[in-house]
Amino acid sequence: MPVLPAAAANPSASESHQTSAETVYLDNLATSAVDPRVLEAMLPFFSEHFGNAASKTHAFGLVAAEALETAREQVARLVGAPSSQDVIFTSGATEANNLAIKGVVEFRGARPCHVVTCVTEHRAVLDCCRSLEKKGVRLTYLPVDTDGRIDPDQLRDAIGEETVLISIMAANNEIGTVQPLAAIGLIAREKEVLWHCDAAQAAGKIPLDVEDLGVDLLSISAHKMYGPKGQGALFARRKHPRVRMAPQLEGGGQERGLRSGTVNVPGAVGLGKACETCAAEMKAGEAERVRAMRDRLYEGLLAGLQTEVSLNGHVEYRLPGCLNVSLHDIDGAALMVALRDIALSSGAACTSGSSEPSHVLRAIGRDDTLAFGSLRFGVGRFNTAGEMDLAAHRVIAEATRLRGQV
Ligand SMILES: *Cc1c(COP(=O)(O)O)cnc(C)c1O
Repeated sequence: MPVLPAAAANPSASESHQTSAETVYLDNLATSAVDPRVLEAMLPFFSEHFGNAASKTHAFGLVAAEALETAREQVARLVGAPSSQDVIFTSGATEANNLAIKGVVEFRGARPCHVVTCVTEHRAVLDCCRSLEKKGVRLTYLPVDTDGRIDPDQLRDAIGEETVLISIMAANNEIGTVQPLAAIGLIAREKEVLWHCDAAQAAGKIPLDVEDLGVDLLSISAHKMYGPKGQGALFARRKHPRVRMAPQLEGGGQERGLRSGTVNVPGAVGLGKACETCAAEMKAGEAERVRAMRDRLYEGLLAGLQTEVSLNGHVEYRLPGCLNVSLHDIDGAALMVALRDIALSSGAACTSGSSEPSHVLRAIGRDDTLAFGSLRFGVGRFNTAGEMDLAAHRVIAEATRLRGQV
């Protein structure tokens, strides 16, 4: 990882935010560094190729439009979309989730509507569902088992005459659990209900094919897969079946009228390159390499910790880079403070800072003490085996010091 300038070179940097050679970044599920290949692809679109992709009467616009189409194809290829025209660029997975869920329901107008989702979804999905509920839409929140997976039979039973949408994620952002995707797709097809899948964590990390799985809408986020922040995409099937949505941003009619606003060309180019790079790395065995590092870290922790450790998430059906553990008899907040040199999370990044225990850990049956004592490690492309040993060593040292102080 690049080392940031020390305080000497940047006197205004506050003590607590410095990074040093010993710092290990293990928060890749919150965000990831931009891959140098992605940055290189983006740079020309800030300067020489700055055109507006909608200005197709001159070369500046045409170069941008062409780059956008290449990016659209790269996104489509990663997720197996039948056509690049099914890809809508957005500002991230949050916006893609809003467009998919609110867009599909609002298009139905005043007709009675029912949506099925799951209790461990990301806030961006759950909050969309809550706001629809306030407007009279009926919601079902499926429970999960102790590994974080839904029961496909409960999904089938939840679907009724008025059900228009299933919104169930590919992989969870806190515990990494991968849902039974093929089973969900079969039920969605059998019942002729649209399936929206939040794949912000899964895309680029595990194989995902919207045709094989029967996904109708799929959200992705560039910054979770070594691309830039503020960029994402929504795959929305245009045929078999045709997904109809009410736009959430109105204006110039970009992105087939579904997402107005001048498209962020460097961002979209970055997302496209990130997709292409992830597909190539997946083929070259990145998942196996990342999984091996994660398991090395876990085994290091188990060997050295004097306290009981519970693994949160499914042992097998889990993102290769995700390790979420609860340390018994340890004050998680105090441990996080002591581990300033190891960048990790306790629960989801978007809810950390609040004192509420994670809704995901509660849903898999962890009590509040275990939820507060949880650590989430996100291992990624730029980590090394040596960093796993260093992180395990540091966690063990601080946990041993703090043990029994709860
Ligand atoms: C990060 C994340 C999001 C939000 O993505 P942004 O691009 O940051 O808006 C949504 N869902 C999941 C599962 C995520 O991990």
